[in-house]
Amino acid sequence: MRPFDYTRAESFESAVATLHDDPTAAVLGGGTTLVDLMKCGVTAPGLLVDLTHLPGHDGIDADASALRVGALATMSEVAVHPQVRRRWPAMSEALLKGASQQLRNMARIGGNLMQRTRCGYFRDPTFAECNKRDPGSGCAALHGENRGHAVLGTSEQCVATFPGDLPVALTAFDAVVHVLGPDGPRVIPIEEFYLLPGDTPWREHPLHPDELITAVEVPASPAAAFSHYLKVRDRVSYEFAAASAAVGLAIGADGRIVDARVALGGVATKPWRERSVEAALIGQPAEPEVFRQAATLAAAGARPLEHNGYKVELARRTVARAFVELAGQR
Ligand SMILES: Cc1cc2nc3c(=O)[nH]c(=O)nc-3n(C[C@H](O)[C@H](O)[C@H](O)COP(=O)(O)OP(=O)(O)OC[C@H]3O[C@@H](n4cnc5c(N)ncnc54)[C@H](O)[C@@H]3O)c2cc1C
Repeated sequence: MRPFDYTRAESFESAVATLHDDPTAAVLGGGTTLVDLMKCGVTAPGLLVDLTHLPGHDGIDADASALRVGALATMSEVAVHPQVRRRWPAMSEALLKGASQQLRNMARIGGNLMQRTRCGYFRDPTFAECNKRDPGSGCAALHGENRGHAVLGTSEQCVATFPGDLPVALTAFDAVVHVLGPDGPRVIPIEEFYLLPGDTPWREHPLHPDELITAVEVPASPAAAFSHYLKVRDRVSYEFAAASAAVGLAIGADGRIVDARVALGGVATKPWRERSVEAALIGQPAEPEVFRQAATLAAAGARPLEHNGYKVELARRTVARAFVELAGQR
């Protein structure tokens, strides 16, 4: 790891000013991604700006219309919050199925949204080809070991999977990300927060280098309140998703679906909303065969690589099973 300077920010505003003045600076949350990548030699900030001690940015507040989570709340705090468990259960499940208890105690929601891909070619600088790490160098995964890579949203420049769980649930339920920059605050819908790799895979989100996440806000809805996160992985804990699905349903008195939500994780370059599956469910009875049929629409346009073709069928089965399990909770 290269030597770096460290400072404790006096406020989010002062942290923004520091980032603005020093392009080598990076903000430090729990450090569970950033310090890891510094040790791997993937990134080498000259200055770490620690936010974690700042008061007033770790709140978890719910009212009738929305949940607002401060950027410094830990994964653990959000996962077990009574309002989150009751009114946004897929968020709680997604958090509890991510990382380990020790990591969740350290990691903050701002850092969680900003976590980087686990692509082995990105994380190991001894591989020369990685457009995310070294723009223009190529993508070793395209013709390398790509069993864990994405089948949706890929490009000729990058096939790295987005690894997070919580952002998948946030995508299903139309969250917005509050950010602060030198020109003041702005709000970014979660679906616009994660960028497709295209020809610029090193640009993963629309944040300017001197902008910070201050909070994430998730609307309340019947579908968010009746929701579920299913994560399928190679081992049952402490593992990233091979495929995951955040699903939600609102079911009318006649037993027919009036609202359906689904987003996929583990199979795409960003959290992947599946609106065609949602549309196919509206007006249908909440029955297993209906879910299985609608789930066949998931992962349309998938572009499998040599080793990850299994993810197309796995994504569809994960969506179907998530809905069946959710409907079974009624
Ligand atoms: C072994 C291991 C297993 C894991 N398994 C999973 C898993 O199964 N599922 C899952 O979802 N995640 C998993 N993770 C990832 C984990 O969730 C993230 O490392 C964590 O959420 C990052 O939060 P942090 O506060 O530690 O961020 P940091 O490491 O401090 O920061 C991460 C990035 O975000 C930036 N940043 C931090 N705060 C802000 C802010 N407020 N505004 C703007 N930028 C900011 C930093 O500069 C840095 O670039 C795993 C991590 C490890 C190490």
